[in-house]
Amino acid sequence: MGAVYGDYLIVGGEKWRIIEKGGIRWEGEKIVEVGEGVEGEYLGEGSVLLPSLVNGHTHLEFSGNRGKLRYGKGFVRWLESVIAHREEILNRCREECYRQEVEKLIDSGVTAIGEISSIGIDIDYLGQAPIEVVLYNEILGLNPGAVDFLYSDFLARVEESQKVAEENSNFKVGISIHSPYSVHWKLVEKGLEIAKREGYPVQTHLLESRAEREWLEKEEGEFKGFFGEKFPFARRQFSPIQFIQLFEGVKVGFVHLTHGTGEEMEAIGKIGGGVIHCPISNRLLEGTTLRWDLGRNYNLPIGIGTDGLSSNYTLNIWEEMRVALFIHQSTPPLQLAQELLTSAFYWNRKILGLEGGELKPENPADFIAITLPEPQLEELEQLPLQILLHTTSTPRVYFRGKKLK
Ligand SMILES: [Zn+2]
Repeated sequence: MGAVYGDYLIVGGEKWRIIEKGGIRWEGEKIVEVGEGVEGEYLGEGSVLLPSLVNGHTHLEFSGNRGKLRYGKGFVRWLESVIAHREEILNRCREECYRQEVEKLIDSGVTAIGEISSIGIDIDYLGQAPIEVVLYNEILGLNPGAVDFLYSDFLARVEESQKVAEENSNFKVGISIHSPYSVHWKLVEKGLEIAKREGYPVQTHLLESRAEREWLEKEEGEFKGFFGEKFPFARRQFSPIQFIQLFEGVKVGFVHLTHGTGEEMEAIGKIGGGVIHCPISNRLLEGTTLRWDLGRNYNLPIGIGTDGLSSNYTLNIWEEMRVALFIHQSTPPLQLAQELLTSAFYWNRKILGLEGGELKPENPADFIAITLPEPQLEELEQLPLQILLHTTSTPRVYFRGKKLK
């Protein structure tokens, strides 16, 4: 048990409430009291308490990449470089590499991640990591002759992660359908069948490039040449809307949507899905971005993630939010800072199917404390923006009532 208080406490949840001289008291893993006048350790001048953050979309298996992959030349040129260097990059990341990246995630105030697991080498380490993990086992492959093999390999990884989840309640199993252009429709069906039966959350990359849109609409564009050369059996299988509709009835996060229109946003809203935004990755690969304002217009839950080091230079979620703050110029900065923080601590949890994101009794005691450079704010409305501008490392991190940092 314990209790702390700071100059400001952001309660969290979908709608913000800020309590001055607010504190939090917890017993075991749960919060028992939140509000003014909580007696406990004072965290000092300019201290701010808020729910811990979530990195909604990572690929830790690719953490061995530093400058090996081709950026700034469009998505397909990047993809070619991934295919060329995949084995080498995957082989570079083993236990110590995961440990370091998880330590950096915790340092940035992250206590939960949505990890896309391509080949399952992250399961062992993340099964023991001191944070909450939703491990999305990925299914990928188009070759009709390899469907059975790909499915049995995927099932073996799902079973391995299920065993870990039985031992560790902070480790959860999810399913990742790589994308509509890269997974044979039979595998899409089988993966979704498991997700529906077991109630597993799902993530899928969608409309990350112009090439993808052109392929899904007309079986044309840059992917035509790419597939013709490397995967001649590839065919267009679904329109973007048909693909989205397949996810009805599952908890799903569509990742990227940089080439998504209002029509797709509406379809995602209709099936109760969410969107995960990875602005740095999108800028480096394709130069485009999600229409943040459009997603908000359709009232979509929008989460935020760093993607992997295969398309980013850092897994620091503050850096990701700061970049988003400067990209989406149609949303005013004070409003956007608040929306981005809400994405990181609240919407990510909703999309990943996790509890919390709001500091209130009965919720898990997952929270962080940071310190503002100026001890007293003249205007309270400045709080989200000042936090976002001045934080990279998070001085205190609590997960399930335990101090991780
Ligand atoms: Zn990704």
